[in-house]
Amino acid sequence: MFCPNCMTNNDENAAVCKKCGRNFQTGVTPKENKEPMSASFAIPVGRTGLSIIAGYLGLLSILPPFAPISLIVSIVALKQLKKNPGKLGKGRAVFGLAMGIIGTIILLFILLISLGAIS
Ligand SMILES: [Zn+2]
Repeated sequence: MFCPNCMTNNDENAAVCKKCGRNFQTGVTPKENKEPMSASFAIPVGRTGLSIIAGYLGLLSILPPFAPISLIVSIVALKQLKKNPGKLGKGRAVFGLAMGIIGTIILLFILLISLGAIS
């Protein structure tokens, strides 16, 4: 039996794939090796707490006062992820970092304008 899911050749009378566990009768694979990006972002499983916080702060960075907090938390979260390569959540931390940088630049502009530095 040739498995169309993981491209593995199995025994001729095999009921399930030896590699991915796909059932040849029903065509159902019990557990996908890779979860979709959207689902991995929505379900916070196996992620560090800080990267989850960084993700939410990234969203809050639309409001400028949150941006520097998001920036700092995201940097700490990324450092934590480097120490624990098994942990997930890099996408959230990077998102928080990017939003934090953009928000901080906007915040600095607002401050400079209000101080009269830019006319
Ligand atoms: Zn397979």
